[in-house]
Amino acid sequence: MSLIVQKFGGSSVANAQRVKHVAGIIAEKYLEGNDVIVVLSAQGDTTDDLIAKAEEINDHASKREMDMLLSTGEQISVSLCAMALEAMGLPCVSLTAWQVGIQSTSVHSDARIKRIDSERIQSELDQHRIVIVTGFQGLDRNGDVTTLGRGGSDTSAVALAAAFHAELCQIYTDVDGVYTTDPRLVPNARKLDEITYDEMLELASQGAQVLHNRSVELAKKFHVNLEVLSSLEKKPGTTVKEVVKVEKTNIAGVAKDTSIARIALVGLQHNPGVAFQVFDLLSKSNINVDVILQSIGRQDSKDITFTVHKKDMAEAEKILNEHKEALKFDHLEDDDSIGKVSIVGAGLMSNSGVAAKMFEALYEAGINIQMINTSEIRVSVLLDENDVNKAVKAIHGKFFDEV
Ligand code: ADP
Ligand code: ASP
Ligand code: MG
Repeated sequence: MSLIVQKFGGSSVANAQRVKHVAGIIAEKYLEGNDVIVVLSAQGDTTDDLIAKAEEINDHASKREMDMLLSTGEQISVSLCAMALEAMGLPCVSLTAWQVGIQSTSVHSDARIKRIDSERIQSELDQHRIVIVTGFQGLDRNGDVTTLGRGGSDTSAVALAAAFHAELCQIYTDVDGVYTTDPRLVPNARKLDEITYDEMLELASQGAQVLHNRSVELAKKFHVNLEVLSSLEKKPGTTVKEVVKVEKTNIAGVAKDTSIARIALVGLQHNPGVAFQVFDLLSKSNINVDVILQSIGRQDSKDITFTVHKKDMAEAEKILNEHKEALKFDHLEDDDSIGKVSIVGAGLMSNSGVAAKMFEALYEAGINIQMINTSEIRVSVLLDENDVNKAVKAIHGKFFDEV
């Protein structure tokens, strides 16, 4: 007998019919003789609807209260799914993060899972019940409800798979696997049979929504067998693993991210410690910084430009302006109409032609690059937000359509 974790995303449980369909998928695994832990997201657009509800009352609500509200969406899904399984005569129990003991950090809206108590789930599994757990939520050391960031149910699933040494963690979604880019934007994107953890982590971190980036990080760390597949069609999906069979000659995929904003500190002093001061201030407020560019210092002055998540832009500016005297910058500039497009592939850096090919595609499409940033297996460019979709199509076409 094996233990399987199955996670179903919002569209997979969007209505009664879908919930019943999902119950059928769960039942199949259970009736094969497996122990099954199920993780669910909120139904359809519930999380967005809850955010809109909050904004009707207070558009600056505290993150603690937002987490209290948003975590309710997942509770609806798990109870409904349990009812569907009950109707099929199958033993099951739905549990929230509080009941399971999913302990997290206290960073509301962006918490990280620290540990998962095993007793409750284990005792339910020992009684041969299907265990259905709310995704996306945790509990901090004060007992307050936290959420793990948008898309965080994937991370709940992988964390449970790691904690219970599951044989397999299946992420069921509304596409039948990981593609070379978002198949909704580029219809001829290709499905990948397999992809490495490292490539998937970069794609997810650069905006490929199909997996939450932290879920991939955890899967790599704890060697979780991860599979992305469709809840709508029964066919093989994409396996995410350490090493893939085929030696990559090309890139694994193209990702886009339009949730970023750029901030520039102009006229900083050209002294040691300036970058440290700036980024230390931001990190103490839990503001994640992504692409960083520092200009060459001239006449005792330099500029530092960086990107943050759009939702953090106002707070980052407030903090920096509050410390304007200590940081000694001349002025601050911002731009929230930018986007980022990235190519990801193992061995990309050992083949300089790949980056050139990406830039050629952008040139041919008449798109201007604002900033460039690379890692060992990724090249990212910052562009005008309006150019992002065009850039993804042009780059994807260059790598996957041309021979
Ligand atoms: P769920 O609700 O199941 O968690 P998400 O909406 O979070 O589903 O993620 C699935 C979506 O991710 C797909 O519908 C697709 O539009 C998008 N997506 C973006 N990039 C990719 C990619 N490279 N491969 C597959 N899907 C992708
Ligand atoms: N319901 C949450 C969201 O919409 C978590 C998830 O779907 O993974 O972001
Ligand atoms: Mg998701």
